[in-house]
Amino acid sequence: MQPFTITTAVDPDSAIAMHANHPFAAFIAGGTDLIGLMKDRAASVTRLLDINSLPRMTGIETLADGGLRIGALARMSDVAADIRVRLNYPVIAEALLLSASGQLRNMASIGGNIMQRTRCAWFRDEDGLPCNKRQPGSGCSALHGLNRNHAIFGWSDSCVAVNPSDLAVALSALDATVRLRGHRGEYAIPIANFHRLPGDTPEQDTVLGRGKLIAAIEIPISSEGRASHYLKVRDRQSYEFAVVSVAAAVALDRGRIRSVRLAMGGVAHKPWRLTAAERALEDVSLADDDGVKAAIATSFVDARPLTHNAFKVGLAQQAAFRALRTAGERT
Ligand SMILES: Cc1cc2nc3c(=O)[nH]c(=O)nc-3n(C[C@H](O)[C@H](O)[C@H](O)COP(=O)(O)OP(=O)(O)OC[C@H]3O[C@@H](n4cnc5c(N)ncnc54)[C@H](O)[C@@H]3O)c2cc1C
Ligand code: SF4
Repeated sequence: MQPFTITTAVDPDSAIAMHANHPFAAFIAGGTDLIGLMKDRAASVTRLLDINSLPRMTGIETLADGGLRIGALARMSDVAADIRVRLNYPVIAEALLLSASGQLRNMASIGGNIMQRTRCAWFRDEDGLPCNKRQPGSGCSALHGLNRNHAIFGWSDSCVAVNPSDLAVALSALDATVRLRGHRGEYAIPIANFHRLPGDTPEQDTVLGRGKLIAAIEIPISSEGRASHYLKVRDRQSYEFAVVSVAAAVALDRGRIRSVRLAMGGVAHKPWRLTAAERALEDVSLADDDGVKAAIATSFVDARPLTHNAFKVGLAQQAAFRALRTAGERT
């Protein structure tokens, strides 16, 4: 592990300025991802800025319009236990409780969760095998390697990794916004625009640049949020990342779908909204199994599975169907 210094940040503006001016500085919250990456030499960090003492970043507040603002330093376990989250956004509580372990959730923050990096084994590997995300220009070992756990949508020849955050998938289905703070103050970007597809620069997971701090996540109130569900398919039932996952949120009108949001994890470099399926599902009866399945299938016409993950195409559709059914039972 490279030697590093650690500074306790006490005011956001100076923390942001330090981060902006130091190319090897990183914010640290719970440290549950970053420290592992530093040990694996997948993160070049010589200066840690501990943001845990920054004011007003741990709270969960109800907004004037009924939405929720969750501070970036709120812990995963606190958010999952919050009664407003459980009632108005069960998809978030479920995504969090299906993530990591109890001990990790007590430590890990919301901001750190959506910033966590891929679990692609070559990225985390210390042996220096080709990985464009770890060493830009070195190649992608997964493109023609063991790519069972990799993407079926939106990948490029440079990188076929998937984003590992369960929470980000739930936030995507709820049309959440990420509140960022830079030297000019706070501003918002939709979660849909926060994570990137790999293109030719897979080393950049998000649009977050140097000198930018995640202050909070805001989630609008909606009837779809209350009728929402997170379904995670994984190789073992606890302490495991998703093979595929689905966040479903739906509003019904006399049994027919008035509006629906479906976001998937484990299939792309970012949470993947099934926008074609969302459109095709409008006005379909939730009791019409064949109609619902056919509508979901419209989002998989452009799936591009790799050598070892074609099974995800069918699995993801079944998962979306089941998640939508459960969400519908909550209306
Ligand atoms: C064994 C294991 C199993 C796991 N299983 C799952 C799982 O099933 N599902 C899942 O979703 N996650 C899982 N995780 C990941 C875990 O949820 C993340 O490690 C955690 O959420 C990261 O939060 P943190 O506060 O510890 O972030 P840190 O490790 O402190 O930081 C992570 C990154 O975020 C940046 N960062 C942190 N806060 C901010 C901020 N406010 N503004 C800007 N940048 C910031 C840091 O600079 C760093 O780059 C697992 C982790 C482990 C170790
Ligand atoms: S998929 Fe991405 S992270 Fe994995 S080896 Fe290829 S470039 Fe690296």
